[in-house]
Amino acid sequence: MKNSLKRTLWLRRAAPILKKIIKEHATFNCPVYVQCETMSLPLAGMCLHYPGYKIATVANNRQSGIKALDCLLHELVHASVGNKQPHHGPKFQKLARKVGLVPPWARSTLGTKMRNRLLQVSRNLGRYPGT
Ligand SMILES: [Zn+2]
Repeated sequence: MKNSLKRTLWLRRAAPILKKIIKEHATFNCPVYVQCETMSLPLAGMCLHYPGYKIATVANNRQSGIKALDCLLHELVHASVGNKQPHHGPKFQKLARKVGLVPPWARSTLGTKMRNRLLQVSRNLGRYPGT
């Protein structure tokens, strides 16, 4: 099985846990398809918005479970906020802060509290494939 597929499956087990964290602060009803892919652009991830669903991609260059979860949480905030708002605008920033992300917003990182919470999530999911 390809590494990116193994990582996709790992991230899909993490996604409901991260969605639950976001749902503590915002509505999140839209289905999100989570995947890990090698990306041609130098991005950690991206969120594409389609009518009725979103695709959250984590780049295959994330070299640890916590870095992958950090990126997935960021992309799921985009999925929750939607694309009718400026990309990293006030609505994104407000929710991102609430879920424990810290600026700069285009390359956010995890605050200490959420980092510790997601380290536990990562441990429970087992080793990030390929690491
Ligand atoms: Zn972003």
